Amino acid sequence: MQHCNISLIVFIGKRRKRFKSSRYDIIVKLYEKIKQEIPDAQLYLMDHRYPHEPEEIRPPKKNIFWCPYCAAYRKFKPWHKYKRCEICLISDSDFYVKKYNGLFSKGKGRL
Ligand SMILES: [Zn+2]
Repeated sequence: MQHCNISLIVFIGKRRKRFKSSRYDIIVKLYEKIKQEIPDAQLYLMDHRYPHEPEEIRPPKKNIFWCPYCAAYRKFKPWHKYKRCEICLISDSDFYVKKYNGLFSKGKGRL
């Protein structure tokens, strides 16, 4: 079974749209197409298959976490009981978000 693990997240002004696919080449083609047709769009690729380790450890800042799927430091915004990456919407309950941000030890229980 194939999962749609690769996303292209597109921001045009305040509008946000997400395209998903299981194939990287399809997403890359779409990325190029949108980039050409809508120069103002902000595009983010997210690959859920390969969480990235932080390249540099930054001192903790409020609501700024390493997002292993964006491969960047991102603002995490409150969402129900969690916080989510403002770009790809992964929540801080994700294993790799916890792992790379040292969140396991903060009282929410260990794995
Ligand atoms: Zn993210």
